[in-house]
Amino acid sequence: MPTAPRNLYDLTRPELRALLGSLGVNPAHTGRVWRYLYWECVEQFSAMDEVPARVRAALTAHATIGVLPTAVETDSSDGFTRKFLLGLPDAERIETVLMRFTGRVTACVSSQVGCAMGCVFCATGQMGYTRHLTTGEIVAQAVHVQRALLQSVPEKCHVLRDSFTGASGGRVGAVGASPSGNLVAGAAAARHAVAEARPAAGYRPRLRNIVLMGMGEPLHNFDAVMRAIDIFTDGTGLGLAADRITLSTVGVVPGILRLAREQRKPFHLAVSLHAATQAERAAIVPAARKWPLDELMAACRAYSEATGRRIFYEWTLIEGKNDSPEQARAVGRLLGDLPAQVNLIPLNPTQGYDGAPTRSEAARKFQDVLIHEFGIPSTVRQRRGIDIAAGCGQLAVAEK
Ligand code: SAH
Ligand code: SF4
Repeated sequence: MPTAPRNLYDLTRPELRALLGSLGVNPAHTGRVWRYLYWECVEQFSAMDEVPARVRAALTAHATIGVLPTAVETDSSDGFTRKFLLGLPDAERIETVLMRFTGRVTACVSSQVGCAMGCVFCATGQMGYTRHLTTGEIVAQAVHVQRALLQSVPEKCHVLRDSFTGASGGRVGAVGASPSGNLVAGAAAARHAVAEARPAAGYRPRLRNIVLMGMGEPLHNFDAVMRAIDIFTDGTGLGLAADRITLSTVGVVPGILRLAREQRKPFHLAVSLHAATQAERAAIVPAARKWPLDELMAACRAYSEATGRRIFYEWTLIEGKNDSPEQARAVGRLLGDLPAQVNLIPLNPTQGYDGAPTRSEAARKFQDVLIHEFGIPSTVRQRRGIDIAAGCGQLAVAEK
């Protein structure tokens, strides 16, 4: 019989089954408990109505549901982004972001309190490293977002219709259930036609995508993150498809090689590159001194060869630093024949770095070089949640 209470968010489904067995209750109840945790997103055992009282009593005595309390919740004026500041049991805090893109909801999840990698332009790096998150703390963030979605279904909801493409934003309700009940606001409203409709009977908003791009370096916390991905993708819980999960790494070479070696669920891997020469990269990404660019690219090649998957390369565009057409050509040459896509992210402001974002025309030129001269697919990331510091690299928590 376990001594310290187990956080159920720490456990895979087979482990939950084993726990029930060790508590002397019938493991046949595993599926139902799991469904309450990840489908109903309940916060207390008392809400598990269809679980026998004896099982609930055993769980209450020996386990917890590691819900993370919301300290602050902020909505962006872009109408698509909500940031949660969540409390941890040891009084540390982390941030999680809910983003709505047309027809899908994405959670941007943290993997550490702070980060040890020290990228100069990143607010999380600027705050330094405090500790790894547990699997349960990573899982709790995704459940938090799913719960917020469940609690947000309004009586009426908006249906987005993109006025450029005319494409519908998804099934009725699929994008409409804004937590604020006000999905389209400000400038966004000008770009979209909005209709009102009632959510379809039985409509249930679902978290569709998870990006491990919040605070921290996920491959520095490898085991806890991999277990969390196993829980995210369990078909009877949150049920995310593995290819709806993206893990972004600064380039922790041993972690990438491990992913190449181990048979893992086919989630997407993103590698934050930012520069195409070792000297330029080491100047803004200190981790490059430990894992130099040639070793990183060799690891990326090994990963793509072993898995058959392309890697997304992330490139934060900083005006005058890494955004010239010549630097784009250097990226094209560096990636060569590797299966790749380059995602360009105009720099978001942070307190500790005074660089400026590349303007949109220069960003487009950079993208054009990659696409037209090298045949490398490339996107320029939409800026989201900048007013509430919820954009890439802006997550940090003020000192307590
Ligand atoms: N530690 C991981 C994941 C978290 S950062 C990593 O570095 O990949 C998520 C993405 O935001 C990374 O691509 C990172 O380089 C980028 N980023 C960090 N600071 C940024 C900023 N100020 N503006 C734009 N992107 C930034
Ligand atoms: Fe850490 Fe990623 Fe920020 Fe670099 S960009 S400091 S690796 S969170």
